Amino acid sequence: MKPSTLVEEARTVGFQPGERNVFLHLLTACNLHCRHCYINPPEHGTNTLSLDTAQRWLALFARPDRASNLVLLGGEPTLHPDLAAIIRRAKALRYHVTVDSNGYLFHDLLDKTSPEELDYLSFSLDGPDAAVNDPIRGEGSFQVCTTNIRRAVERGFNVSLICTVSALNIGQVARMPELVASLGVRRFFMQVIGLRGKPAQEEAIPASGWQVQPEAWFAAVPQVAAEAARLGLHVVWPKVYLAPEDAFECAGLAAENYFIFPNGRVYRCPLCEDFPIHSLEIVGDELRPHPGLNEDRFFPLRIPEGCVMNRLLQPDNIAYGPDGRPLHRISCCLLKEELAAGKTA
Ligand code: SF4
Ligand code: SF4
Repeated sequence: MKPSTLVEEARTVGFQPGERNVFLHLLTACNLHCRHCYINPPEHGTNTLSLDTAQRWLALFARPDRASNLVLLGGEPTLHPDLAAIIRRAKALRYHVTVDSNGYLFHDLLDKTSPEELDYLSFSLDGPDAAVNDPIRGEGSFQVCTTNIRRAVERGFNVSLICTVSALNIGQVARMPELVASLGVRRFFMQVIGLRGKPAQEEAIPASGWQVQPEAWFAAVPQVAAEAARLGLHVVWPKVYLAPEDAFECAGLAAENYFIFPNGRVYRCPLCEDFPIHSLEIVGDELRPHPGLNEDRFFPLRIPEGCVMNRLLQPDNIAYGPDGRPLHRISCCLLKEELAAGKTA
């Protein structure tokens, strides 16, 4: 099967020179206990950034002369009592601002900010109904999340939805587009489970119980994307498997992404977040290189399997042929495919 031609209209979103993406974790606390949560408090800290610190860190990464995307995350970012003020400050610094929420929208966020200040409000949902979603994200979370998506859409916010695809729910993702479109959501993101945080630690489910095999991915995800686009959604999903003609690129070298945690660690690669190998750190109000053997030493390495960190940390998603060569190269986890609304396979 040729992975990248299953959906002819799909476009690989290459890394754009000059594009900057800043992912700021304001806190690691959360009201939910999702089974696939990647937050790892021993590595990421347990503190909540004060309003003052959050504003200073926003200024540290701001480049008002260039387009910079900012994603405010947690934990659950709406647990932060000053989130609305942080959004306002970010907008003043000319960030394009997104908040990634689990849907509980604490502290009356919809009343305290506006679609003019917040460019996108993103909700996480991992199934088309409570029977699929709630065993992964928590009892009652489907109902709360879908209710608040409707409220946000009614208030005029641009709403997107993220579904984490794993072996636990891939059999049901075909039913997601209809739900997502019916909620009034504009953008639909699928992401693939990563073996970090809880999935890397939970003994009850081995890696094979989480990870999606290539056949299952190709059989489901491109078709789900095509259906979502047909229903009027802008769809984005990870490339995961490179076609033979695709060039491999590491975002650590080709793009400008910063994954910032409340303990001051700054990673350039999300796969590395379970380990103290961050390439940068915030000390005082300065962004400094983190001394030692860190993630950035791996970025230039080239192997037949594609991404080096994937080969080291989640080798179970690589299949080999009888000649010992990998059947597919694994792309950078940050490489995406997209389908515009109305485009079909
Ligand atoms: S909502 Fe997000 S931060 Fe909270 S437990 Fe779930 S995955 Fe983790
Ligand atoms: S996922 Fe792999 S290719 Fe992408 S930034 Fe990390 S090391 Fe580089």
